[in-house]
Amino acid sequence: DPIIEVSHLTRRFTSKRSETVALDDVSLAVQPGEFVTIAGPSGCGKSTLLKIIAGLTLATDGDVRLYGKPVTGPQREIGFAFQRSALLEWRGVRKNILLQAEMRGMDRRRAEERADDLIELTGLTGFEKALPHELSGGMQQRVALCRALLHEPRVLLMDEPFGALDALTREQMNIEMNRIWRETGTTVVLVTHSVPEAVYLGSRIVVMSPRPGRIVETLEPGLPERREYGPTL
Ligand code: ADP
Ligand code: ADP
Repeated sequence: DPIIEVSHLTRRFTSKRSETVALDDVSLAVQPGEFVTIAGPSGCGKSTLLKIIAGLTLATDGDVRLYGKPVTGPQREIGFAFQRSALLEWRGVRKNILLQAEMRGMDRRRAEERADDLIELTGLTGFEKALPHELSGGMQQRVALCRALLHEPRVLLMDEPFGALDALTREQMNIEMNRIWRETGTTVVLVTHSVPEAVYLGSRIVVMSPRPGRIVETLEPGLPERREYGPTL
């Protein structure tokens, strides 16, 4: 059974002067363990789709189900990482990650063990006490990723998580992300405007187009073993 089931989703933004159809009859089912990438140009509704799945905003029409249950608000089963996931400047790496535990009232010991595992998994060992401004952009995104994964969500939603990084760091983060996905078995839905990034990361690639926001194509290259990282990225 799918973890996420998006059915006939429509989202309109209406103002006095105009109406934008951000999503037009979008349907999508995500199976456990998949890495679904959603690619398309700016304005095709990628962020809106992800936010609706996360329960952070509502659809105009259609519905989203998580394990068969309608999503009506933020979900415990979901972790979320944005392009600029704000870290608290005065807190070190480990404490930034543990913020998630505080917000969710997790058992402290369990959360600390999990944080240390994630720090190791993402190569942040030795930087536990470093403050965000002492870290590179890629390392900051790793911290944000650890924070999003701390409560062991079944699904990780990422909106242009590496969009603010330089090309080389972005490439390294993609390789890292592929490894983390294979090692943790987390189901991932990642939004990007970069088609090569979508192709590198995705076990399934959903392509969208704007005005109105629609799915125009779905590619299923299957579960990647170890894809070559193209220099065109
Ligand atoms: P993408 O993430 O693919 O760039 P978005 O989901 O951000 O696309 O936006 C899709 C369309 O909906 C765009 O035309 C955008 O301007 C519009 N839109 C998104 N959010 C809002 C909003 N809160 N109010 C009005 N229009 C919005
Ligand atoms: P992203 O990189 O996620 O596509 P954008 O810079 O396009 O982000 O938009 C940032 C946020 O502003 C979006 O999450 C969206 O909800 C909102 N937004 C986008 N377009 C509009 C718009 N035309 N009017 C109001 N809000 C918008």
